[in-house]
Amino acid sequence: MTSYDSENIFAKILREEIPCDKVYEDEFALAFHDITPQAPIHVLVIPKGEYISFDDFSAGASPEAMTGFYRAVQASAQKLGLGENGYRVITNIGRDGRQEVKHYHLHILGGGDMGLMKRGLA
Ligand code: AMP
Repeated sequence: MTSYDSENIFAKILREEIPCDKVYEDEFALAFHDITPQAPIHVLVIPKGEYISFDDFSAGASPEAMTGFYRAVQASAQKLGLGENGYRVITNIGRDGRQEVKHYHLHILGGGDMGLMKRGLA
């Protein structure tokens, strides 16, 4: 695995070097609107620690950091009003997952029927 690049765009958002449209923040996580939304509501949730992907985070983060992060995902969805009708959470990992930004993030997608999952091979 390659090492964490602290110049990635989400690291810059965490350092407040570039702005974001914030939804939720606590000591473990930051949630903000995706700049290119793929659904009526499309929010990214990122942990505050330096983890490249779901794979890296799951292997290396402390239980406290993991619990805090996933609670923040749920709190973000509630704050967005998605709790009643539901939503989709996805994460892209590595080359085959088409991960673009190399700081772990979950996509919260909602605000309407998200449709069936398609396999989507290029
Ligand atoms: P992924 O392919 O899972 O790495 O997705 C990266 C996501 O980050 C894409 O949906 C982009 O639209 C989004 N994105 C990139 N730059 C920004 C930014 N400055 N603010 C908000 N979202 C961004």
